[in-house]
Amino acid sequence: HAKHSGMEDLCLYDAEIAQDVEERRQMAEALRLALEEDALELHYQVQKRLTGGDPISGFEALLRWTHPRLGVIAPCVFIPVALRDGLLGHLSAWVLQRACDDALTFDPPTRVSVNVSAEQILDPSLPRLLHETLLASGLPADRLELEITEEALIVDRTRALQVMGQMRALGVGIALDHFGSGHFSLETLQVFPFSRIKLDKSFVDRIGHDRTSKAIFKAVLTLGQALDIPVLAEGIETPDQLDLVRKEGCAEGQGFHLGHPCPVSDARRALRETLEPPPGSGRKPISTRRTPL
Ligand code: C2E
Ligand code: MG
Ligand code: MG
Repeated sequence: HAKHSGMEDLCLYDAEIAQDVEERRQMAEALRLALEEDALELHYQVQKRLTGGDPISGFEALLRWTHPRLGVIAPCVFIPVALRDGLLGHLSAWVLQRACDDALTFDPPTRVSVNVSAEQILDPSLPRLLHETLLASGLPADRLELEITEEALIVDRTRALQVMGQMRALGVGIALDHFGSGHFSLETLQVFPFSRIKLDKSFVDRIGHDRTSKAIFKAVLTLGQALDIPVLAEGIETPDQLDLVRKEGCAEGQGFHLGHPCPVSDARRALRETLEPPPGSGRKPISTRRTPL
């Protein structure tokens, strides 16, 4: 677990490596092979509702690739490689299918969120791929959520709006990821059919330190309430941060303090324990079965 807190450093380091053309070509080839051999992995990071015992509300699927020679490569490095080398379609298909299959094994039934890059969401074949994957897996559409960033909306607004409409018509949720990092406009929330707002870690980090950030945080929560869009605070690393966002009435949280990304078997165990706490833990089971996703 040494890599957990060093992801940003890892990104910088690997981005330098990837600048080397030959290295990049080799990486693309290795990625192609990894896709063929089913050697990629999805890890899951827990998302919790910040009321009444903090029940699990969902899991975010995070892509992991262990390169045979270079070791763990961060998604921010190999996703651009996949894009450049025409592997993005394969990657989307693999991730969606794995996430749906994994979600079906979650008991109690729980929402799974999948990250979709700007290029992926604007790919004309995505709506059909999504539809077919849901049908083939049998996963109810409302158990799946896509996380997209504002970048996609800026690249091609009309197309993004159209695709998002199609996804929402299928019953799939759409979260606005990285909200509050850099540029964001309130108009985005008015125009696009988001079902969740994910407040970026950089923003969460500032709330406890400056008054303006706290005021904006409160305003976003109020706006979310008015628009009926739940707000999730990302990157909660300390008990203080958790207390703070909870006190302000933020609906959901995610971050190392609530749980690190973990293999699917660990995610399943964490869910099971909400039904049957491990012997001697003294906790009452919390049923998440009846609460809406
Ligand atoms: P993201 O969607 O914002 O995901 C959250 C990232 O923050 C994850 O990094 C997670 O491990 C990390 N994180 C979670 N809690 C904390 C915390 O408390 N502190 C800190 N410092 N970090 C935390 P990861 O897994 O390296 O993913 C980075 C980005 O790569 C993701 O950002 C997402 O945009 C992208 N990504 C991951 N998986 C996929 C995928 O399957 N498809 C696409 N297109 N993008 C993906
Ligand atoms: Mg995300
Ligand atoms: Mg995020």
